[in-house]
Amino acid sequence: MQTAGMNTGVDAAGNLWGRYPANVSDHFTPKFVPIPTLILGSHLDTIPNAGKFDGILGVVCAIEVITRLHAAQKTLPFHIDVVGFGDEEGVRFPASMLGCRAVCGQWQDEWFALTDIAGITLNEALVQQGLNPAEIVNASRANEPLIGYWEIHMEQGPVLENTSLPVGIVSAIAGARRYTITLEGEAGHAGTVPMSLRRDALTAAAELVLAIEKIGCAQGIVATVGHIQTYPNAVNVIPAHVECTLDIRSVDDLLIDEVMNLITTASHAIATKRSIGIQWQKYHDAPAKHCAPKFRQLFEHAITQLNLPVCTLPSGAGHDAMLMADITDMAMLFVRCKGGISHHPDEFVAAEDAEVAVQTLLLALDELAFEYHRSEESI
Ligand SMILES: [Zn+2]
Repeated sequence: MQTAGMNTGVDAAGNLWGRYPANVSDHFTPKFVPIPTLILGSHLDTIPNAGKFDGILGVVCAIEVITRLHAAQKTLPFHIDVVGFGDEEGVRFPASMLGCRAVCGQWQDEWFALTDIAGITLNEALVQQGLNPAEIVNASRANEPLIGYWEIHMEQGPVLENTSLPVGIVSAIAGARRYTITLEGEAGHAGTVPMSLRRDALTAAAELVLAIEKIGCAQGIVATVGHIQTYPNAVNVIPAHVECTLDIRSVDDLLIDEVMNLITTASHAIATKRSIGIQWQKYHDAPAKHCAPKFRQLFEHAITQLNLPVCTLPSGAGHDAMLMADITDMAMLFVRCKGGISHHPDEFVAAEDAEVAVQTLLLALDELAFEYHRSEESI
């Protein structure tokens, strides 16, 4: 970052920052007008047994953008801050996107007491890294004049590879809901209770899993039962009690509402037919976040200038950008990855594709600066 012409620092939440200063300073006529900032970046952390690209690609590409501006001695009428967020994945403590939450002014003090697998609290971990937890509130950028947040990220899916395109513009980050479903039947001897008299919670769950798949396919939505636990889980006992999960996502929150109605109605029909008790409990609900149309348009113009077709796609996975959307306009650019593989050592993004992403951002920055000048003149 420093070689690229940035002033650097680490905030109290452990996020790494670099600033490429504007070519103007705060002005005082007729009142104090601070220079706004465009933030570029992604996350620095990753998962165990990870690949080399998830997160860091967006930080490195952002630094490369600044490197090119600096080499061309080009400055802009606003600051560009490059951020490497800490702890997006939530691997060490039972909470995720902690660095970004601090930047968005959404830090909760009870998180300091969260412990990792070794019993070390988050507070202790921050101190061990030379950070001051008492200053974490200062990591917030929520009350500053921000132009927006742009994030380059590997796609983590197969869409761009299948369309033979190096980059794609993200339309929105899908909203996600998670539920625990509990099915209550009756245990019994596997040898003595006739099939017709059973209240088997696992066969009811099996029917429900297939119903969820069928409804998901028909409605064009991703719905996944990824965890199932059966009790007493013994070879010769009719399952009495089953707990399973549902993860459902879409960029359309209303569609999630509609599909959840269909799924819960189907689940109650299955439960009634089989004399099984069923309970739904929602434990996670994150609404969809839409990328700012004005930034999507800048990216579209840039990609067209590069003589490439424009591909727009939703993000099924969560990213720092979904939180940043709470404090400023955000946009994301996906880069093609091999085989759609991510969170795996085989993760791969070609340097040529990353280059297209860097050029897209440079062209979009040109147009943004031009528009910014024009709006300043009209004031
Ligand atoms: Zn990521």
